[in-house]
Amino acid sequence: MRYEELETLLRRWKITIVPKEQKRIRGHDVDTYRRLAKQTEQIDYDCIFLNGGGCNGRSRGPNGCCTPARCAETLGYWRREGGTLDDDTARRLAGPYDPDTGFLRDGTGCALPRELRSPTCLFIYCSDAKMTDDDKILLAQIQYGAYMLR
Ligand code: SF4
Repeated sequence: MRYEELETLLRRWKITIVPKEQKRIRGHDVDTYRRLAKQTEQIDYDCIFLNGGGCNGRSRGPNGCCTPARCAETLGYWRREGGTLDDDTARRLAGPYDPDTGFLRDGTGCALPRELRSPTCLFIYCSDAKMTDDDKILLAQIQYGAYMLR
């Protein structure tokens, strides 16, 4: 999608685009959030995106947590982040966003790099069987916010 189209969509959803310096994601500034989010690459979510792009869905029924419609209508769950989106993230999300399938791709899963995924997308998991204690602390920092670092 072109950025201008995403701007229009965000307006319709009543999401305000703000400067990157102003945006806080669960209390983290954008760069700090992205640094934490990128670290989730080391986490084994015990999730296999081989089912047509869907997840294992162990605890959430056959649709799993990522479905094309849900990803599209929530903008990869960024719509839940306080009614604002920073301009830099919006520009990066626009290209890979598909109004029908969001960021989910058949057979390969999520098209977004970890640092651009929302807290919801990074935190939700069906199994922590392969996670270390440090992995769980990192996910808690993402989900519960900046106060976890103090
Ligand atoms: S952005 Fe990625 S992880 Fe989040 S719902 Fe969409 S496909 Fe799933």
